[in-house]
Amino acid sequence: GFTTSRDGLLKIDDDDLKTVVLKTSILAVYDVDKTPLGRGKYATVCRAVHKKTGVHYAAKFVKKRRRNQDQMKEIIHEIAVLMQCSDTSRVIRLHEVYESTTEMVLVLELAAGGELQHILDMGQCLGEAEARKAMRQILDGVAYLHKRNIAHLDLKPQNLLLAEPNSCDNIKLCDFGISKILEPGIIVREILGTVDYVAPEVLSYEPIQLSTDIWSIGVLAYVLLSGFSPFAADDKQQTFLNISKCDLSFEPEHFEGVSSAAIDFIKTALVVDPRKRPKIKDLFEHPWISLKTSIPGTLNIHATSTETSQPTPKSTPLAQRKSFA
Ligand code: ADP
Ligand code: MG
Repeated sequence: GFTTSRDGLLKIDDDDLKTVVLKTSILAVYDVDKTPLGRGKYATVCRAVHKKTGVHYAAKFVKKRRRNQDQMKEIIHEIAVLMQCSDTSRVIRLHEVYESTTEMVLVLELAAGGELQHILDMGQCLGEAEARKAMRQILDGVAYLHKRNIAHLDLKPQNLLLAEPNSCDNIKLCDFGISKILEPGIIVREILGTVDYVAPEVLSYEPIQLSTDIWSIGVLAYVLLSGFSPFAADDKQQTFLNISKCDLSFEPEHFEGVSSAAIDFIKTALVVDPRKRPKIKDLFEHPWISLKTSIPGTLNIHATSTETSQPTPKSTPLAQRKSFA
């Protein structure tokens, strides 16, 4: 069984943990690639091929100690959250867990298409129809989490994975490393997440809520549709200021051909007061998401215009993304 501790982390009962965590070497069971598929702030993820079946997985290696601090509680939490999210295709599935003296290895369902970020890196943004398709799936995943009082707290294109290469038809949420269980009575205040996507209440050290994810969804919609990050500035302090004031602009050259419904969706999600922010179910009801209207413009992932007459952009290209030190 699982229990939630006061800091919003899930614990797994000792007896259960023993059956979940395998102490044999992962290398006895899988062929693990040397070059990683991806890297996050804490983990290295490599392709792992199950020797007996030939099935491909993604092995997430996480150090048990970081900056001389024990990370087991956080890693067990991530494992527990993934175990609780096993009956949805919108969350990457956990297959097995291995433990060595220094590392925990989470053997995950492989998302062969890698990060959604990679598509943005190639083409700068998605076409509106593609962005809406992606957003509907992301909302599905987040609705599943919020129904279980799980706040992801790190929704961004690096943590959204594509099951198939170069296709947004099957998107999966990953990385529950800083997620929290927000049950009644649990109050979490923490500086976490990634600068560009973080909500105002996180910066002002107010309690984190499920709606903290809704803010990130708004930022995500902005990024997918334009290829630009709405609040990013040259330095972190300015970014924080832009976020706390919700200093939002839609530069015409970045949103050329984007429908007013899509822009309204972004504005709807980016409300500074977390109590006034919509709930996930409200976002499903937003016309951009709910209506079956077709959207002008290309269905394919396209590059934004390369014209040069752009004034100093208020929003900053994704390449300038920074994360907390
Ligand atoms: P971190 O907590 O360090 O950010 P993540 O779980 O986000 O770790 O994994 C880091 C990166 O590894 C991801 O951004 C992605 O590029 C890649 N990755 C993670 N899980 C998978 C997976 N199941 N399939 C394919 N790539 C993955
Ligand atoms: Mg990550």
